[in-house]
Amino acid sequence: MGIMAMALVGCKSETKSETAWIVDRFDDIKVIRYEVPEFEKLSLNDKVLVYYLAEAAKCGRDILFDQNFKYNLTIRRALEQIYERYEGDRTAADFVAMEKYLKKVWFANGIHHHYSNDKFAPEFSREWFMAQSEACKVESPVAVEEIAEIIFNPALYPTKLNQTAGVDMVKESAVNFYEGVNEAEVQAFYAKMAAKHDPRPVSYGLNSKLVKENGKLVEKVWKEGGMYGAAIEQIIHWLEKAESVAEEPLKDIIAKLIKYYRSGDLRDFDAYNIAWVQDTVSNVDFVNGFIEDYSDPLGRKASWEGNVSFVDKAACERTKIIAANAQWFEDNSPINPAYRKPVVKGVSAKVITVAMLGGDCYPATPIGINLPNADWIRKEYGSKSVTIDNITYAYKQAARGNGFSEEFVLRAEDRARMEQYGKLADDLHTDLHECLGHGSGQLAPGVRGGELGSYTSTLEETRADLFGLYYLGDPKMVEIGLITSLDVAKAQYASYIMNGLMTQLARIELGKNVEEAHMRNRKMIAEWCFEKGKADNVIEFVKENGKTYVVVNDFERLHTLFGDMLREVQRIKSEGDYEAGKALVEQYGVKVDSTLHKEVRERYYALNIEPYGGFVNPEFELVEEDGKIVDVKISYPANYVEQMLHYSKDYSFLPSLN
Ligand code: ZN
Repeated sequence: MGIMAMALVGCKSETKSETAWIVDRFDDIKVIRYEVPEFEKLSLNDKVLVYYLAEAAKCGRDILFDQNFKYNLTIRRALEQIYERYEGDRTAADFVAMEKYLKKVWFANGIHHHYSNDKFAPEFSREWFMAQSEACKVESPVAVEEIAEIIFNPALYPTKLNQTAGVDMVKESAVNFYEGVNEAEVQAFYAKMAAKHDPRPVSYGLNSKLVKENGKLVEKVWKEGGMYGAAIEQIIHWLEKAESVAEEPLKDIIAKLIKYYRSGDLRDFDAYNIAWVQDTVSNVDFVNGFIEDYSDPLGRKASWEGNVSFVDKAACERTKIIAANAQWFEDNSPINPAYRKPVVKGVSAKVITVAMLGGDCYPATPIGINLPNADWIRKEYGSKSVTIDNITYAYKQAARGNGFSEEFVLRAEDRARMEQYGKLADDLHTDLHECLGHGSGQLAPGVRGGELGSYTSTLEETRADLFGLYYLGDPKMVEIGLITSLDVAKAQYASYIMNGLMTQLARIELGKNVEEAHMRNRKMIAEWCFEKGKADNVIEFVKENGKTYVVVNDFERLHTLFGDMLREVQRIKSEGDYEAGKALVEQYGVKVDSTLHKEVRERYYALNIEPYGGFVNPEFELVEEDGKIVDVKISYPANYVEQMLHYSKDYSFLPSLN
């Protein structure tokens, strides 16, 4: 599970040139560069390991494009051909609009927005596209007329992910995990697989596309020699090199991953995860595979992602304290004692520095990760959590002096607390969310998980967020030395509630409701606490000079409300109470107040801040002498377009249609 950046939290500070951190801006996106501090100080062996794993992380990019939508690679390649061969005026309106569209496609790994899932509306004309396709001699397995229809007809494939209650979510989602099948058929297919009771079930359907062939449902497995085989072979090639220089236990972990990529057998994936989750000693670590299921409307198929990291030793002192107190946190959680975990196992939490982002982590990346996702492995072996410090640092640097706080935070004391404690509060909330929140609690006897259907992700993120919010305001935090004052919690509470009730709406188009799981979860928590504390004015909407503000009047009561809500959300998960989960999400997490929405967007966009951020990667180069690797050099390219074209040329292994 990944935690998304709370990119809408501003941070006032001295005005410093933004250009050093922001390398490109277009539409609602800013592209930031990140640094990899201490890379130079790694041992030569670790540097080489990072290099090989980074290559493997870049090789799956096409897989994600194809997973997101069947025609994404076709469209990306057609546009790239025009972009590179175009001989006309590159400042002409149509070309500029096409360039912006292509930048968005690169960013989203497809033609649907990475966060809202809506198809992009092109601002260049169909006629221009047709004329340039001919002039630039675009080669494509799909006729350009058909490509144009997909790009320009808003009624075709309008959303990547449709989870509206009552629709056929499989048929109405453009994501390429199913073809020729409807939701009922998919549900029946997997219900049958999961029917026999297995305490250690594999994640059925995780690594395949489900299609109908000759009237029969068949899984096309993503593995060497299978679907996406050409890209997976390249990934294996670099993993083998990494294996050759890695030390145990990482060496064995890489070998297990290669075995899984070769077999496509989900039991091999479990074996890999079990080995991976128990490795708490390797300095270099990585994720590479089909991991998160947020993009599947049924929460079953996983998107490909990759990243490479190493331990940030200094920052790990913080998470060590959290992990050492994991059992205390579980024992004192404000939930029904029956749903507490009697013995918390394998909580390991680290702060890491990422050196490469790939697939679903690129260019937009989570700022924290908790894996593996399989419930039974988490229960028996624990889970591993990381928070990514160099990414949050880059976000904060890029947000300096952008005017956000002044515009949206009413009270000076809140602004001061956010400025002083904002980064620490965010970091601690992420740590608690990832290393304790997701891993906490247990299911009631007889409940197997998966009962919450399409509400699973939202409710799970809600649970983890509430766990973090609740404990951030607990005196225990001061007692164990993580913070010196509960003002840190106040900073987080004020910004979280403001974001959930108001400012995150800037990310949503007018007329739309909230769709994305993390956004729904934040809205749901804020709205629920607002309503439950209404009689006592715990949270208040204040109007001043025609502007709306959200303020927290009673932090202690809010702390209690977080606990109350955690108790209920844990109950829903533990009992698999689908109806209650659905009611909670639909009532508090989805519907947007259109007047407030409009106001937030106007004020937000007047600041010229893009609500979404993503990153360009550093580049690594082997330094060789007499055929021997003697060093690995890192550099920081600052051109988004060049990096994307470079990846499309050198790390593109799949045919346009798969
Ligand atoms: Zn999470």
